[in-house]
Amino acid sequence: MTLLRSYVGGAWRTPAGEGRPVFDAVTGEEVARISTDGVDMAAALEYGRSVGGRALADLTFHQRAALLKALGSMLRERREELYALSARTGATLGDAKFDVDGGIGVLLSYASRAKRELPNDTVYSEGALEPLGRGGQFLGQHILTSLRGVAVQINAFNFPVWGPLEKFAPAFLAGVPSLIKPASQTAYLTARLVELMADSGLLPPGSLQLVCGSAGDLLDHLAEEDLVSFTGSASTARRLRSHPAVVAHAVRFNAEADSLNCSILGPDAGPGTAEFDLYVKQLVTEMTVKAGQKCTAIRRALVPAQMIDAVIESAAGRLSEVVVGSPADKSVGMGALASLEQREEVRRSVKSLLAGARLAYGDQNHVEVVGADAERGAFISPLLLCADDAARSEPHEIEAFGPVATVIGYDSTEQVIDLAARGLGSLAGSVVTGDARFAREVVLGCAPWHGRLLVLDSDDAAESTGHGSPLPPLVHGGPGRAGGGEEMGGLRGVLHYMQRTAVQASPRVLAAVTGNWVAGAARDAEGVHPFRKSLADLRPGDTVVAGPRRVTLEDIEHFAEFTGDTFYAHMDEEAARANPFFDGRVAHGYLVLSFAAGLFVQPDPGPVLANYGLENLRFLTPVYPGDELTVTLTCKQIIPREDAAHGEVRWDTDVSNQDGASVAKYDVLTLVAKQWPSA
Ligand code: NAP
Repeated sequence: MTLLRSYVGGAWRTPAGEGRPVFDAVTGEEVARISTDGVDMAAALEYGRSVGGRALADLTFHQRAALLKALGSMLRERREELYALSARTGATLGDAKFDVDGGIGVLLSYASRAKRELPNDTVYSEGALEPLGRGGQFLGQHILTSLRGVAVQINAFNFPVWGPLEKFAPAFLAGVPSLIKPASQTAYLTARLVELMADSGLLPPGSLQLVCGSAGDLLDHLAEEDLVSFTGSASTARRLRSHPAVVAHAVRFNAEADSLNCSILGPDAGPGTAEFDLYVKQLVTEMTVKAGQKCTAIRRALVPAQMIDAVIESAAGRLSEVVVGSPADKSVGMGALASLEQREEVRRSVKSLLAGARLAYGDQNHVEVVGADAERGAFISPLLLCADDAARSEPHEIEAFGPVATVIGYDSTEQVIDLAARGLGSLAGSVVTGDARFAREVVLGCAPWHGRLLVLDSDDAAESTGHGSPLPPLVHGGPGRAGGGEEMGGLRGVLHYMQRTAVQASPRVLAAVTGNWVAGAARDAEGVHPFRKSLADLRPGDTVVAGPRRVTLEDIEHFAEFTGDTFYAHMDEEAARANPFFDGRVAHGYLVLSFAAGLFVQPDPGPVLANYGLENLRFLTPVYPGDELTVTLTCKQIIPREDAAHGEVRWDTDVSNQDGASVAKYDVLTLVAKQWPSA
């Protein structure tokens, strides 16, 4: 007998007592026992805050990203082992990859995003500076800093690897330690995952803890800076959201709950079209991957009323080819539900659904199974229902968390949008149509009720990631019944674990707080040209002022002929004057940029390695022949790379004319060596 241990307070703890049994979904054998008896939840939370939080606070975003990447690579090496254990949850190899590779993918995706979008620092400045006073000495800046609590993750049973990793990655990047509480039914897989992560030695102490078993009094000990990220049923979400400690301490509570996701077939996509086949294929995939135990799976198939029979016939044909059975058997396309209790739960839900629908395919009490015993394992047939009356409430309200979907007919675009909304908030929806106008109407009509919408057609089908796959760069979550939460979505997911604070101060102080040079703060234009400084010597505020350079009509004509840009505003005095913005021929904006570069650049080989772009470019004042340009280039932000001998430097650039008016403003982006000459 294996008694699952919890990983708390920096050590693996075996619970007191014998624990509850957890069973293999395929064979019905006992896999492990589970209990949190004797686990001190208050101490675990305190350890996370004091040890984990502090250890993470010592690391910059980029250092945390490097650890995430290393963890992802380590898990990739060990994924076969996780696949094998997944089979005990009823998952086929394909299902296991969805869970395991998907989870590893989130780690790696967040690691690389952090390097691109976050500074190598512990504070993140969000958005532009807000000028608050007339003289430029009183500004506002939003900054985000790590919450000082623990991210308590309560996960559902269906994604024992992806579930914890998609929450852990953004929390870890944000500098917030995680305490994972997996669902009991499949906790043995999450426990092995955490064991691999803990044994890797990569994790800062206290940054990841695991509680295997019931949550006990965990939530009673939540405090103001803690967060709860919950995934599970809407009813549990409701209960936990109103937990007295959550309410009393205004604990940030994110819920990813169940939803009655719909997939809409467009009126243009009749039988014989590519979109019709895509629709049916996707419906069957969503019903059978993970045996339908996906929060994003299609539960409602909304199809033009006259196509109901064709959809059912085609889907039934495909479903009849799905082999159900043990994941060990290579021919199997659909495994078991996670447990016999889950099967009972699904059967109960189907019974309720059948009050408002008829069974169009499958038998809830019988299924042919290969490689396993149909009764000892939690097997069930895919079940396709049809609601002849679209107005019945059952298909829009009851989630059967298994391979179950209901086909519902619609007669108009307006009606299908209304039917979609009857799910009262969904994680994911899809529209399968070749008609872009129909797609627009449906997307705009359904978007307020959805966290994610996929429009599938023959153009994107080959690349599509599918209706049911949440992706790290995209928001996962949904309004209303779906929990009202948001996870991932790129940087948004990280910022969720941080506190946004509006700081009001002078430019000098804001520069010190954010680590970036801020317009209005002192510049240092004395001494060495900043292009001669490596990252070891360069400081925000280092500046070069260069010019003036006079722009002549010959320059403009030369540039026009040389580049081929003979736009009338540069070449035709009369036409330029007729333009509402110009008093005559003007210099090209790109000529201004080129002259500016010619002015500020220091040409010798040195620590500046490359220019990799411009951002926020605005041309503000026209430049006429005879105008004189001066450029002020100021080092604004330095981002050393953890894994390279260089870093990124952002330069504030202001090109002005002889009257001191800004002609162009932009940020120049360069790569600069950490040392020069290189060591
Ligand atoms: P569940 O019964 O709501 O359980 C979810 C988690 O909450 C489990 O870890 C469970 O622990 C825990 N829990 C239950 N009661 C608790 C309490 N009083 N205090 C603290 N924790 C408590 O859901 P499930 O059956 O595991 O998962 C299936 C549901 O999750 C489906 O409805 C599905 O749609 C939804 N889901 C949503 C998403 C999403 O991203 N939106 C993803 C996957 C699944 P124990 O297991 O130890 O009871």
